[in-house]
Amino acid sequence: MMKKLLLVVLDGLGDRPNQVLNGETPLQAAYRPNLNALVSAGIGGMMYPVRKGLVCGSDTSHLSLLGYDPQRVYTGRGPFEAMGLGIVSRPGDIAFRANFATRDQEGRIVDRRAGRDIPQASKLAKKVSFSMNGIEFIVKEGVEHRAALVVRGKGLSANVGDSDPHVQGKPSRKIEALDSGAARTADVLNAYLEETRKILDDSEENKERVRNGLPSANELLLRGAGVTPSLEPFNEKYGLEGACLAGIPLITGIGNLAGLKLLKHHGATGRVDTDYNGKVKAAIRALEEQDFVLLNIKAPDIAGHDGSPLLKREVIEKIDAALGQVLEVSDRIVTCITGDHSTPCTIKEHSGDPVPIVFSTEGIRKNNVRQFDEISCSRSGFELLSGDVMTMLLQLSDRMEKYGA
Ligand SMILES: [Zn+2]
Repeated sequence: MMKKLLLVVLDGLGDRPNQVLNGETPLQAAYRPNLNALVSAGIGGMMYPVRKGLVCGSDTSHLSLLGYDPQRVYTGRGPFEAMGLGIVSRPGDIAFRANFATRDQEGRIVDRRAGRDIPQASKLAKKVSFSMNGIEFIVKEGVEHRAALVVRGKGLSANVGDSDPHVQGKPSRKIEALDSGAARTADVLNAYLEETRKILDDSEENKERVRNGLPSANELLLRGAGVTPSLEPFNEKYGLEGACLAGIPLITGIGNLAGLKLLKHHGATGRVDTDYNGKVKAAIRALEEQDFVLLNIKAPDIAGHDGSPLLKREVIEKIDAALGQVLEVSDRIVTCITGDHSTPCTIKEHSGDPVPIVFSTEGIRKNNVRQFDEISCSRSGFELLSGDVMTMLLQLSDRMEKYGA
């Protein structure tokens, strides 16, 4: 029986020394007996997302972790957002990230988020989903004011600009073609947006919002056009049945695109108050059926963006407690724990700093790392790129085919 593979991605795990933590990183400062036990029994090192020094988003990094080259398949975040929101996007579809926003009578965008709280978003999204001139437009609401638009039809190009002015007080932009091949797509989109303005202005939902003194969600701002790539299905690429458990749409979208089975767990909220124990348990249980599970835990990234080293330390401690379950199955599972990028609390954004990584399983040729953190793991000298992680997992579970004779 070959060992099963568990890839745990702690979103935005990597960090930098923080004054609030006496110059330690949140991971260093955290009480983390299980992560330390895993690295003591395994191989610790540093992982560079995609390539050294690159500041990656979660999407490009997760694609790379799964063994897909983002430089070949990534054309913008839109398609990944859309898929994560549940739009079954097909290769060739053009997708945008979208916001419901408020447009005043002069056509200026006065609130790019339409007050943020839009309980009517689902109904509005349905109203602006329709076909026009043989092109299908599908809008799906996300969290708060966020949404995604998928445009489906023949001969479309993603080489178009945004309608989002990215600042308040200005009108939305006309979608521009960025090359001659995209002229028709730009026309189609501008006609669509004109139509949605009428629909949104006339909608009962927005009339009610205005009556209640709320900003009307009467403009759909589009940004980040991308074409949905076609990925080689994960199970064909590796000969592994794979699944994905994540609390955020972006990652489930990537899982969906790769053909991973999407696992549902009621506690997988993508927030800091998520059910860490339940997620880890569900991932391990899924490996009874699956060969591979990708588990993404979003919380460290949220704390990083928040600039809260104390919160980041706290969520890492909770994650550590949940990861105790992994130690109990090291006879039959090869576990890799890493981050998809660093989100230092000191800059509240992603950085290109490498992230600690551990491969752990019974019988592994362990190295000299005893503590799982940015500094201790870097001392081992073991470094790899995110694109090598699947290869390592295949090798450690004796699945790697021989290179040569
Ligand atoms: Zn982030």
